[in-house]
Amino acid sequence: MADPRTVILPCGVAVTVLGQGTWGMGQDPGRRAAEVSALRAGLDLGMTLVDTAEMYGDGAAEEVVAEAVAGRRDEVFLVSKVLPTHADAGGVAEACRGSLRRLRTDRIDLYLLHWRGAVPLEETVEAFESLVREGAIRSWGVSNLDVDDLADLPPGAEPQTDQVLYNLSRRGPEYGLLPRCRELSIPVMAYSPVEQGRLLGHPALRDVAAAHGATPAQIALAWVLRHEDVIAIPKASSRAHVEENRAALEVDLTAEDLATLDRAFPPPESKRPLEML
Ligand code: NDP
Repeated sequence: MADPRTVILPCGVAVTVLGQGTWGMGQDPGRRAAEVSALRAGLDLGMTLVDTAEMYGDGAAEEVVAEAVAGRRDEVFLVSKVLPTHADAGGVAEACRGSLRRLRTDRIDLYLLHWRGAVPLEETVEAFESLVREGAIRSWGVSNLDVDDLADLPPGAEPQTDQVLYNLSRRGPEYGLLPRCRELSIPVMAYSPVEQGRLLGHPALRDVAAAHGATPAQIALAWVLRHEDVIAIPKASSRAHVEENRAALEVDLTAEDLATLDRAFPPPESKRPLEML
């Protein structure tokens, strides 16, 4: 299997378009070994962008990631997030130290503001820039920011991504946000790309999947990844799901498939507020 497709971030680093999410990992000790094994299987298959956050399991997901990347840190592009309640000057630095400790690493490749809260964006960006200068993070970005929020970033700020809810049943970003990110040359990172599994029984998705000898999850991922500049970060806690998701990169959706999916999941015709999970 060839290496997964990549996309170039504004900082010039190439990352895989198919990464791995971790929300919900680390919560059940009985599942931990399977979660670590699933993440490692993903790394073996080139899904080397791993997304986590201090919020997930109160740090427990970061600890699972630490175990998964132990001994192979340099292969991995590690993304973590700071909570908006920690996004002031001192809070960002402290939260980052906590994440680095749990991740058992000396740097986070991409550090995101999880969503916008009460702290002025300018203050958070300054704190991120200072962490970049110290080497604790390589770059920074944002999450759950809509077009207007992006416009409120301080002049000259260069986020590497906006991580947002985007899948067949959440097409709002196609009107406004995706085009704006494209103008800014910021690849979007699509979270919950299979809508946490809720999408997978949809008849249209099943029909398209059957026509390709593929699974609904593969079609949902291939649909998100039809954009050259969108990254998908499905979370999978079994090796079987990881392998299935990786094979989504081999699925080429036809114009007819896209039309079928458009009928079942109509694209937005006007601006919709950005949804969040
Ligand atoms: P996803 O859409 O990735 O769905 C995850 C669910 O789908 C899990 O139950 C998983 O099961 C299941 N699944 C995965 N692959 C398959 C498959 N091939 N067939 C059937 N079921 C499958 O939802 P998430 O909300 O987890 O989003 C992905 C990641 O995005 C998160 O883990 C997190 O890292 C990030 N995120 C970021 C947010 C933000 O605010 N910035 C908000 C939400 C998510 P199983 O675990 O059993 O394999």
